[in-house]
Amino acid sequence: MSSIRSVKGMNDILPSDIANWHFVEDTARHVLESYGYAEIRPPVLEKTELFKRSIGEVTDIVEKEMYTFADRNGESLTMRPECTASVARACIQNSLLTNQTQRLWYRGPMFRYERPQKGRYRQFHQIGAEAFGMPGPHIDAELILLLGRLWREIGIGHVDLELNTLGTSTARRAYRAKLVEYFQANASVLDADSERRLESNPLRILDSKNPSMQDMIEKAPRLIDMIDSECREHFDVLCQILSDAGLTYRLNTRLVRGLDYYSRTVFEWTTDKLGAQGTVCGGGRYDGLTEQLGAPATPGVGFSVGVERLIELKTATDEAVARLAPHAYLLALGDTPANAAHPIAEQLRSAVDDLRITVDAEAGSAKAKFRRADRSGARYAIVLGDDEVSSGQLTIKPMFKEGGEQVRVSIENAIQLLSKAV
Ligand code: ATP
Ligand code: MG
Repeated sequence: MSSIRSVKGMNDILPSDIANWHFVEDTARHVLESYGYAEIRPPVLEKTELFKRSIGEVTDIVEKEMYTFADRNGESLTMRPECTASVARACIQNSLLTNQTQRLWYRGPMFRYERPQKGRYRQFHQIGAEAFGMPGPHIDAELILLLGRLWREIGIGHVDLELNTLGTSTARRAYRAKLVEYFQANASVLDADSERRLESNPLRILDSKNPSMQDMIEKAPRLIDMIDSECREHFDVLCQILSDAGLTYRLNTRLVRGLDYYSRTVFEWTTDKLGAQGTVCGGGRYDGLTEQLGAPATPGVGFSVGVERLIELKTATDEAVARLAPHAYLLALGDTPANAAHPIAEQLRSAVDDLRITVDAEAGSAKAKFRRADRSGARYAIVLGDDEVSSGQLTIKPMFKEGGEQVRVSIENAIQLLSKAV
């Protein structure tokens, strides 16, 4: 029989990698909490309609990347391809937006049917934040400054911030018409993909990487030249706050982002250290989203970070890796000691806060047991033989490189010694 493998593009995160995940997740949580963001955990499955209405029918995600299926009742459900729509839905459903603002964050797996490659998977993970109820540019700035801090705390340099403003939907409609006119006048240069988008989503043509279209795209009319003075002011204040806080950014007037729901501020953080999949974070303002979901209008702004790409940039510190090793490895020599091992480990766990102790549960010689103790990375081997059991004592052998004396101590004294090790 052939063995069963995981679904293409969906990875196991193995114990050997988990320190990296904890490091990034713990750092992100710490930074987000320090800015007053509270975690929210919406379900992974949502009604398909939610994503069609929020992300937009004519986007790459909704057209070709969603995992959509009918459940046993024939209802169309979708594995979430992103979390902003779910967070907005959860807030509306639970009345979190009436007469109040919200600063929220989430993390978890997202699902997109894409061509798997380095930095692009079918199940991948995002950490993101959404702020609701605050229309001004200050909150946009807060989210961007928070991200700058996150990169610093994780310890990655070389991520560059690109900023743009999309104005209001009215400005975007006028721009869209002008852009279609321009592209039609340059129809001979358009590739097949762009011809298709000309009708459905012409702004996305600006995103094209096709080298033969770059010159034409470069000369296309710019949205930023058509936005109203209020949006311009919003953008100018944002830029000023970022500059005053010492953050550098690049204005990229072609940055439109893939999703329909953005308005005003959009941004991306990119790096040249990851090859083709160089975007580690995308975000922006989405003042029209709650209305699109059938609720009263509430301003919103947020971002989403690709965790796999971050981990690719930075692996955990030695300290974070060491945090996973047990403090002590308890090994029993003989049958009577083997039966006593778990009750003693329980006693130690109850007495010493945060103690990580692994009980050896395998057969083998004393030599094999000590080898396993060594491999576990524990600071101490706790040896339990017949003598120890009958005298109510434990032998403690330091395993760390600096060495130290092996001692035979009462359980009381073992508790004291281990308390100092955690
Ligand atoms: P891209 O242009 O790389 O496809 P996107 O605009 O589709 O990105 P967003 O929807 O903004 O991505 O998601 C936010 C972040 O999530 C991205 O910047 C990226 O770091 C990460 N991400 C998106 N899709 C994937 C994927 N298939 N695999 C791994 N990470 C992803
Ligand atoms: Mg994408």
